[in-house]
Amino acid sequence: MDQDKWRTRPARKTQGLIHRLSSMLRALAGTASEMLGQRSVSCVVGNFLIGDFFGDVRCRHGHPTRLFNIGRGHFVACDICRTFIFVGSNLMSSWREETEDIWRANSDSVEGYEWLK
Ligand SMILES: [Zn+2]
Repeated sequence: MDQDKWRTRPARKTQGLIHRLSSMLRALAGTASEMLGQRSVSCVVGNFLIGDFFGDVRCRHGHPTRLFNIGRGHFVACDICRTFIFVGSNLMSSWREETEDIWRANSDSVEGYEWLK
């Protein structure tokens, strides 16, 4: 019985917190969407909006983007717009753990896509 109390108390607290946060978020919804619109964009390349830091690349149409490597080069693609851009090289060490097969597959994944420069 005591154990059950232990379990329900934090759950109630969490529910209260979630409820409060939800109402705060609803109140902020208008402001938040304005803030998103004002997120800093330092560069626009085709359909890509490039932010202030590496990896902050979005598709201006709101499509999901994916980051991949070909060798030490990092690229971001939008599979819906069928475009990709080069975002830098050797900025992340993950490429060192990948194989030529992975890079070949990554290269093949953007075959026929437009490379925006
Ligand atoms: Zn797109």
